[in-house]
Amino acid sequence: MRILVVGGAGYVGSTSVETFIEAGHTVTVYDNLSTGHRDSVVRGARLVVGGMHDRARLERVMREHRIEAVLHCAAKSLVSESMTDPGLYYRHNVAAGIALLEAMRATRVTRIVFSSTAAVYGEPKRVPIAEADRTQPINPYGESKLAFEGAMRWFAAAHGFRAISLRYFNCAGATERNGEDHDPETHLIPIVLRVAAGEQTHVQIFGQDYNTPDGTCIRDFIHVRDLAAAHLLALEATGEADPSFEVYNLGSAAGFSVREVIEAARKVTGRAIPARVVKRRAGDPPRLVASSRRARRDLGWSPRHSTLEQMLADAWAWRLSHAAGYGRRKRRPAARAAAERELERVSAADREADQEIELDTVAIPVGVGSR
Ligand code: UDP
Repeated sequence: MRILVVGGAGYVGSTSVETFIEAGHTVTVYDNLSTGHRDSVVRGARLVVGGMHDRARLERVMREHRIEAVLHCAAKSLVSESMTDPGLYYRHNVAAGIALLEAMRATRVTRIVFSSTAAVYGEPKRVPIAEADRTQPINPYGESKLAFEGAMRWFAAAHGFRAISLRYFNCAGATERNGEDHDPETHLIPIVLRVAAGEQTHVQIFGQDYNTPDGTCIRDFIHVRDLAAAHLLALEATGEADPSFEVYNLGSAAGFSVREVIEAARKVTGRAIPARVVKRRAGDPPRLVASSRRARRDLGWSPRHSTLEQMLADAWAWRLSHAAGYGRRKRRPAARAAAERELERVSAADREADQEIELDTVAIPVGVGSR
């Protein structure tokens, strides 16, 4: 299969690219490197540096590389950031996403797998959460992902797309080559491991007054290797399907509290990991645990690496072998600013006539965001 992985230089995307290449597929990565890393793209995959809202460029890439299917995992994905800057989330996760769908439509690429999120469920009435349960996001991040799912559904109905949305819960772990390296880092496990490595003095526990056994939030963690395997199964499934839009939860059905994660990390790393309770973080549902029965049944997926200890051990091993992450922190703010400027420019162009959307809009120059 010739696969375009949009956002393929990010944490989840790059690991999926590794899996696709290992399985013998031809992979083109399309990424603006605003948060992704050039070094995370494995040998054998082609990297195109560009913005997702750049529809004309996407069309050219799809034609040139005779793309058959798309994995879309380029998104803004921080709940707290979405609470303070919702526009950013709608621009990236909805508006730019539509440009991708339009580019697919124009080039007759109809197979797409989308990295969605448990945040579409908001505060679930019951756990484990099933796909048919009510979606009512409580933050713009979840709302923007749900809006894009809606667009996929209508593109399936109107244009014959074969679309699958994978709603992840929490992702952790690493491969030998690729791991989690965000700047700023906001996710629990990488922060806990930073503290273990002595880069930070303590972990902040965001709230201990939730209605859970130890008062801290509960999350369902999946190993990034297991997510990558699910992406491949889902892409294969779109090849056989009639025009359709399907949704699958990906989780392990086991939830761990923030305190349990910290405790397990103390054991795995053998380090002290001091923790301090602070007030709740806005937009955090108390408990998110998935029922993945549907993915197991329809896609034949089952998590193989997703014990908490395994995820922590792999993430810790990656950290120890990549002490400076991908080693490019100094240039990153400039890359982010460039990406934002580009998005502003292209969004403005999008608001003009269709004709102008066809113009080759500015892409981030190769080199920005890399070392
Ligand atoms: N969390 C925490 N301290 C941190 C980071 C996260 O207590 O420094 C908590 C957060 O409030 C949530 C859980 O850990 O309940 C998982 O958060 P994360 O940001 O890793 O993922 P999310 O569930 O938001 O996708």
